[in-house]
Amino acid sequence: MLIEKLAVGAYAANCFIIGDDVSKKGMVVDPGGEAERIFKKVEDMGLTISYIVITHGHGDHIGGVETLKKLTGAEVLIHHEDAVMLESPHTNLTENMNGPRVAFKADRTIGDREQLQVGAIKCSVLHTPGHTQGGICLYFESEKILISGDTLFYGSIGRSDLPGGSHKQLVASILNKLMSLTDDVVVYPGHGASTSIGFERRKNPFLQG
Ligand SMILES: [Zn+2]
Ligand SMILES: [Zn+2]
Repeated sequence: MLIEKLAVGAYAANCFIIGDDVSKKGMVVDPGGEAERIFKKVEDMGLTISYIVITHGHGDHIGGVETLKKLTGAEVLIHHEDAVMLESPHTNLTENMNGPRVAFKADRTIGDREQLQVGAIKCSVLHTPGHTQGGICLYFESEKILISGDTLFYGSIGRSDLPGGSHKQLVASILNKLMSLTDDVVVYPGHGASTSIGFERRKNPFLQG
C-alpha cells in the first residue's frame, strides 16, 4: 500500500493519499485545502483516485474537495450524519474560518462497518461520534493502519465543544471502537504526528482510569 501525508490549509489538516501499488487505484482522505498540490502528488504517485473520503464535516478537512473532485472525477463520501454539514458554510464552520466559504454535496453517504476498496486495498469505516456526530475513522486491517480524523491524536483526543460534539461520546467511541484494535496498529490523526494504538492505550491521559 502506498500512503502519503500532506499537511494542508491554514489549519494544517493532514490529507492522506492512499493507493494500491499494483492497480494504481487510490483514495484521498480529507483534502482540507491546496487541492492542486494534492493533485500534483497524486499524479507523481501515478494514481487514479476513486474516492475522496471525508472523516467529518469540519471546514479544515473539506476546503479542497470540490477542486480535487473536478481534477480527479472521484466520488465524494462522508458519513450520513455529517453529510448535511457540507451543504452550508454555517454548519461546516467555514463562515468563521480563515479561508473561503465552502458548500457542496457529497455523492454518497457511508455508514459504520462499511467496506471501501481501491484495487487490492480494503478499509472499513468505523463510526466514532463525539467530535462530530458523523465522524469516522478508516481501518486498513491488513496493513494495520488507522486514519483517525479528529477523533484520536498523538497523546490527545478531539475537541468536543463545537456543535454536535460530546466528550462522553468521544471517549466511548475511542474506548469501544479504537481500543479494541491491537497495539501495533499505526494511527494517522487528522492533525499532527502519527502514533499507535498501544502508545495511546498506555499514555493518552484522556483514556486512563
Ligand atoms: Zn474537526
Ligand atoms: Zn481538524
